[in-house]
Amino acid sequence: MPAVVQLEDIHKIYDSGEVQVHAVRGVNLQLEKGEFMAIMGASGSGKSTLMNTLGCLDRPSKGRYLLDGVDVSALGRNELADLRNAKLGFVFQGFNLLSRTTARENVELPMLYGNRRVSASEMHDRAMHCLEIVGLAQRADHFPSQLSGGQQQRVAIARALVNQPQVLLADEPTGNLDSKTSVEVMGVFQKLNDQGITIVMVTHELDIAHFCKRNLIMRDGRVVSDIQVPDRSIAEVEMNKLKEAETAAKLTE
Ligand code: ADP
Ligand code: MG
Repeated sequence: MPAVVQLEDIHKIYDSGEVQVHAVRGVNLQLEKGEFMAIMGASGSGKSTLMNTLGCLDRPSKGRYLLDGVDVSALGRNELADLRNAKLGFVFQGFNLLSRTTARENVELPMLYGNRRVSASEMHDRAMHCLEIVGLAQRADHFPSQLSGGQQQRVAIARALVNQPQVLLADEPTGNLDSKTSVEVMGVFQKLNDQGITIVMVTHELDIAHFCKRNLIMRDGRVVSDIQVPDRSIAEVEMNKLKEAETAAKLTE
């Protein structure tokens, strides 16, 4: 079985005319089915750029990306959009729910954009099933404004699941939540991962990364640490090393 994700020497250079920003500098990464990885690192280290690459939202300047065995760089715009819709689920920091639309209708949305036509009753059933998974079936008819932040993020997770993606990608999914609610949302991700869903998330909070099984730390566009997390202490040591190195770098500037 091919790796779910395989990145080979990925580079991303943003070129805005006068300045070039080399945001990702030669990242190699392989993810097998069932992994649960946190991408960490200081602001500006390239986490979101790497996530956008993984999510096929942005093309690398150089390197090869195989998603579920498919070479993404060979695909055109529409094929890429189809692949994204079929294989990836996205969760964002700001939930990104449509406000005049119920929880269930929000969850149904990705099925409207899919390649395969889905009947209204199947859409309804699949949306309800995903809301059940995140424990919100009883709130299906509520609008986002009638839900707490944690509940809104759970709706967004249900939406990300509805096309049965290979990989769930989340950029700072707990960034707008208080710590208790964050733990609750991470519990949902853990449950999904226990059921075999591959998850990659960006976070700069160590307590959040602790919920994941693998921690990748980025610095200046490079992966500086990639560890399995048997317990939190190792991740903590790595993050502290990073912080010390950054403090030292600032002092010598
Ligand atoms: P992080 O998510 O770790 O904070 P980013 O991936 O957003 O880091 O950014 C990495 C680097 O690339 C930063 O220096 C940032 O300013 C730059 N960058 C990100 N997006 C763009 C863009 N669209 N155009 C130009 N530079 C960008
Ligand atoms: Mg970011």
